[in-house]
Amino acid sequence: MIFIKVVVIGGAAMGMGVVAKLKRLDPKVEIVVIQKNDYVSLGACGIPYYIGNKFEDSNMLLARKVSDFEKIGVQVLTNSEVKKIDFDNKKVLVQSLHQASEQSYDKLVIASGGTPIIPEVISQDYLNCFTVNSKEDGEKIQKLRSQVKDIVIIGAGLIGLEVAENLVGNNKVTIIEKGPRPLSNLFDQEFSDLVEDELSKNKVKLIKNNEIKEIICKDKTITEVILLDGTKIKCDLLICSIGVRPNTDFLLDTKLKLTPRGAIVINKNCATNLKDVYAGGDCVQTFGRVYKNEIYSPLATVAWKHAIVVAQNLAGIKSSFAGGLNTAIVKVFELELARTGENLNFLLENKINFKEVFIKDKDHTSYVPGQSDIWVKLVKDENKKTLISSQMAGHNKSILRIHSVISLIWNQTVLNEEIDQIDLPYAPPFSRTKDIINIALSKITQT
Ligand SMILES: Cc1cc2nc3c(=O)[nH]c(=O)nc-3n(C[C@H](O)[C@H](O)[C@H](O)COP(=O)(O)OP(=O)(O)OC[C@H]3O[C@@H](n4cnc5c(N)ncnc54)[C@H](O)[C@@H]3O)c2cc1C
Repeated sequence: MIFIKVVVIGGAAMGMGVVAKLKRLDPKVEIVVIQKNDYVSLGACGIPYYIGNKFEDSNMLLARKVSDFEKIGVQVLTNSEVKKIDFDNKKVLVQSLHQASEQSYDKLVIASGGTPIIPEVISQDYLNCFTVNSKEDGEKIQKLRSQVKDIVIIGAGLIGLEVAENLVGNNKVTIIEKGPRPLSNLFDQEFSDLVEDELSKNKVKLIKNNEIKEIICKDKTITEVILLDGTKIKCDLLICSIGVRPNTDFLLDTKLKLTPRGAIVINKNCATNLKDVYAGGDCVQTFGRVYKNEIYSPLATVAWKHAIVVAQNLAGIKSSFAGGLNTAIVKVFELELARTGENLNFLLENKINFKEVFIKDKDHTSYVPGQSDIWVKLVKDENKKTLISSQMAGHNKSILRIHSVISLIWNQTVLNEEIDQIDLPYAPPFSRTKDIINIALSKITQT
């Protein structure tokens, strides 16, 4: 190794992923992590389930402790925020609780993640308004949930829906969605319709094509929200889940190249435009595997892969990110949904010649209890004769069939006349002799 000191900004999936891998590859390397929170390795994905009392100890959200890293010789500066970077002189300026300091680096890793987007109508701090991004957010919401009745969630995306499911219990939950349907960035209309049915079955009210125009509060506590169309909704707890943006404000007006939306531009080795500076996770723009298009994909599954790539490159092992498919999976009450590949907007905007099939079947044999509906969509590139994307909905984990479709998309397998014979497994509790994936592949090949 020709360098001596690595500074990592941000101590979550990406940052600590780099640290863990790099320390395994080169135990002697000096690493300093600068982390805003007083903990590291937050598994934010668990927050909705902590709020929903699925487990009691919020520390279970932390995959590893600061002391775990200290034991392997990593210096972790908690409650410390990087305010500025002097790229010319290879120094970061750190503001800790009571003091400012500088850290010099030989190699720098930026893993500052994403920050929740706050709707403009929320112009001040309220005592009962939260995002769902940190351990503290989760703890505050979990504490309040039993003291409130009327809960309003802004945004019917993945997180808004998970939170709705976990809060509904004895509470009245209303979701306000600006767009025409839930999960519109990830799923097509047919799947949004299934989500709407599931919400209504579970007494969650979804208001679409609407926004909060005004917030009524008393002593910094929200009591009511008023929508664009004048509808008034009682509100004891307001949750904002309208998405995240790259957390890169401290990098504005520097030489580091950002996209207009503030994501750090990286190449396939996760290197930025500046020498010795790497980045990955929710603060970067990455790329799609099939069309090599630029995508912002704030997912834990992307962050850990970027972390491995960065660690290996830092250790002198040439390594590249292979591209992403924006694969996501979500449970909305009993309904489970999975998706992978480019969405409809991308296909239309880029004039991709595509064809699709959408079919509904049963997930396993009728005589084994628990048989349920399953819906599958496959989309193919008509020119290349390969699959582009897939969406599925079902119950009892039947949607994990998406794994097999992902493999076909990942390798851009050509849909020839043999593809519908792909040797998928069958036994009565799991599937039918001719599985929905075989049927869908047969149809899409002939379409
Ligand atoms: C509620 C929720 C549910 C999710 N569910 C899923 C899921 O089911 N599946 C999935 O794949 N993904 C999910 N995600 C997304 C996943 O959590 C993120 O993609 C992942 O955490 C990104 O990791 P990261 O390290 O890039 O960024 P982050 O997790 O955002 O971490 C960045 C860290 O850097 C720190 N930091 C920021 N700026 C500075 C600074 N200037 N100085 C010092 N420290 C700084 C932050 O405090 C933070 O600790 C979910 C996210 C949330 C919020």
